[in-house]
Amino acid sequence: CGVFGIYHDNKAASGVYMGLHALQHRGQEGAGIAASDGTHLRCYKGKGLLTDVFRPEDLEPLTGNNSIGHVRYGTAGGDEIENVQPIVARSGIGSIAVVHNGQIVNSLELKEELEEKGHIFHGSSDSEIILHLIQGRKGSLLEKIKAACVRLDGAYTFLILTEKNMYAIRDKNGLRPLALGRCGDGYCISSETCAFDMVDAEYIRDVEPGEILKLSARGLQSTFYTEERRQNICAMEYIYFARPDSNIEGLNVHMMRKKTGTILAGKDAELNADMVVGVPDSSLSAAIGYSEASGLPYEMGLIKNRYVGRTFIQPTQSQRDMGVRLKLSANTSVVAGKKIVLVDDSLVRGTTSRRIVRMLKEAGAGEVHVRIASPQILYPCFYGVDTSTREELISSRMSLEELQSFLHADTLKFLCVEDLQEAYGETGCCFACFDGRYATDLYSYGRKK
Ligand code: 5GP
Ligand code: SF4
Ligand code: MG
Repeated sequence: CGVFGIYHDNKAASGVYMGLHALQHRGQEGAGIAASDGTHLRCYKGKGLLTDVFRPEDLEPLTGNNSIGHVRYGTAGGDEIENVQPIVARSGIGSIAVVHNGQIVNSLELKEELEEKGHIFHGSSDSEIILHLIQGRKGSLLEKIKAACVRLDGAYTFLILTEKNMYAIRDKNGLRPLALGRCGDGYCISSETCAFDMVDAEYIRDVEPGEILKLSARGLQSTFYTEERRQNICAMEYIYFARPDSNIEGLNVHMMRKKTGTILAGKDAELNADMVVGVPDSSLSAAIGYSEASGLPYEMGLIKNRYVGRTFIQPTQSQRDMGVRLKLSANTSVVAGKKIVLVDDSLVRGTTSRRIVRMLKEAGAGEVHVRIASPQILYPCFYGVDTSTREELISSRMSLEELQSFLHADTLKFLCVEDLQEAYGETGCCFACFDGRYATDLYSYGRKK
């Protein structure tokens, strides 16, 4: 998912709309915006792409200087409208809207506990839990939020909007990205820095793991909900999820992908090929890195149809298969008779690579050498990226040789975790889907592992 907020800037909701537009790649199943004018908090949301959900007149009632928004990529909970965010509660302490990116790993346990106490959940997603944890506690809202965060385990960034204030929260492992910017005389907060340009905001810094920012009439106030903090940003953000023009923890996503392409090329000193082809769009940076390092020309061997969105995010396998077919075509005149290095960013279920190797061969390619700019994905993610169950992860079912023949590739290579560490330097990352070393306890999810 993607979250975006603006505090203290006029037309906050239209700014949030712009920001969400730049975050659309982070989720296509739903979109919503809440805004507050100091007295009233209003919300509008719906299923689908941002541009499908919002007509210009839907933004008009969302008046006020403070606003938060969300684009949804469902990993926990179904696709019912109740799970589309912001989630708004009208409680004794006033109205509260919340947006969430990530996944709470102890959500089942917390829900059971809360339901036993009489709480009634509106939807099936895990994002609502924070609202329930806040209720019924004593003290200021900031104190309540802190106490709630201590109970939540897993990956989360939250933006919380009340009638007057806004809060931004990042989990103590910093699993999902969140950045703070200056926007006019106010602030903006975004899952990715690429959205700052949309509202002419200036990047200030990343929100730190375990940090809670309170934005109020008193300005910006920073506190931490725990002493145990680690930087453990999701490596898949760099590999696939984030936009190449975003910087995460100070590192530019495109440059990091290029580095992984360079490292792949370093393993291929002996390979005799004619050209490098990337799988648009997510692997283009890595393919450029490979091309520069190897001296092989980068070619447009695959063309992407602009009118198809991210295929992986589609919920069923048949939709994903159809998606790849609709999305990508081989450029026959370029690839016929050629030996091709095909670079993709990741291999999850194998849908994309298998289909593309076939496409290139049908277009007359002589050899196709598949190079994946990440390690083999062997373990599921429980932190908000839908790499799904272990059975679906093709690398956990097949040996490298089996995989190579399944893909009909002439050769096949991956990076290893050490290669990624080399690329990312000092930045602490989560690599759990590659090495199974999860940053948190997995609670009931652990049984499915
Ligand atoms: P596969 O087709 O092997 O199942 O998935 C890999 C392809 O899907 C790559 O082209 C990658 O860019 C894309 N991909 C999409 N979404 C995700 C996601 O959430 N995780 C990952 N790893 N890859 C995705
Ligand atoms: Fe990211 Fe993988 Fe860690 Fe999930 S398990 S947070 S996808 S690195
Ligand atoms: Mg891709």
